[in-house]
Amino acid sequence: MKTCIFCPTALTSETKPEHIWPNALGGRATTRGVICSECNNTFGSTIDAALASQVQDLRTLLNLSSGDKRTPPPLQEIIDKNQKFFVWPDGRIELRQKPFTIVKRDDGGFDVTIKAKDSEHVDNLIPHVAAAIGISEENLRTQLGRANAREIIQPSPQITRNIAFGGHDPLRSLAKSCLILWNRSGQDSAIKESPFDAVKVFVTNGDKTFLSNKIKLDGRPIPGADILANKFGPIFNLIFIKSDRNGKILAYVGNYNTAYWRIVIADSGGMPNRSVGLVSNPLNPNNWSYLPDFGFDLDISWLETPVIDESSRNPGDSIGTALKDHTEKQREQHIHEMLIDTFRECQISEGSVITEEAIARFSRRFAQWLLRIKTDRPLSNEEINSLISLNKG
Ligand SMILES: [Zn+2]
Repeated sequence: MKTCIFCPTALTSETKPEHIWPNALGGRATTRGVICSECNNTFGSTIDAALASQVQDLRTLLNLSSGDKRTPPPLQEIIDKNQKFFVWPDGRIELRQKPFTIVKRDDGGFDVTIKAKDSEHVDNLIPHVAAAIGISEENLRTQLGRANAREIIQPSPQITRNIAFGGHDPLRSLAKSCLILWNRSGQDSAIKESPFDAVKVFVTNGDKTFLSNKIKLDGRPIPGADILANKFGPIFNLIFIKSDRNGKILAYVGNYNTAYWRIVIADSGGMPNRSVGLVSNPLNPNNWSYLPDFGFDLDISWLETPVIDESSRNPGDSIGTALKDHTEKQREQHIHEMLIDTFRECQISEGSVITEEAIARFSRRFAQWLLRIKTDRPLSNEEINSLISLNKG
């Protein structure tokens, strides 16, 4: 009977399939018959989670969904204690604030402050505010019609993130991916034996000595990177594993086409003369492939000699390109949305004439966004009334 490569547990038809790349990296390729469900769960909540948290910011900035098609959560940026911003995967930056506050006055009345982003938001808040102070919605609307209101447009903050790759636990997760790929469908029976002990201990328990002796950061550009970028986008994930005639197994692994590591999977005694590989496109997780579909091969002698050469490449290049493309798309989308919002506010629909007011509103909004200007102006009674009654009924 087949057992888990990391523990004595038997693998059955009930054993869950395992992702070769972790879910967080957009991994869709799965296999069975390598890891038991329990080890799978343990790795998921420990070393895979360590890798996932490392790539979290980048996933949100590039809107990279997970292997199971979930969109990444927003980045949260706290500017000061009163200003918390969410950066959503679609590029929207949203100021998060308490939508309303109610302070009871000595004379029995209430001071109500409502902070809303548009008239629809005001409309949604009115029932809650009315209930909180115990008056009817109608009464509240009447009172709000007489209240002071200001329109504040605030530019988005500049948000900076440092993104790092590598480190002990994330590399344990990458080494695990290599082992699963190597042993896909249980092909190398030696994987349960001593040639693989060191790498398996590293994956299951961690081992700083293994990290420094058997794993090397490789600064060289990978031969064939252009071919892969054409087929799988600029930030492909890659695992390439080869063995020589003595069964020495070397893996070359990297995520987002940035940093690569050479991992010694076995010094000798593994299945000889074999090549396996997996490449995937995090921008489109449906797009992935196994060797030999890459369109090129790596030579074992190339894998033998990792080189750190800081001058040879800039590891951020691929991500920089992807971020630039993505940001341009988001800008177009944002301008489009500003236009749609303005037309909606001015009740312009298909077939109607664009009014001067709509043009003026859009121009002001566009200029404020482009020039990052903060504005704060009082609203007229007419504007307040249109704000609180626009979506009513
Ligand atoms: Zn197990």
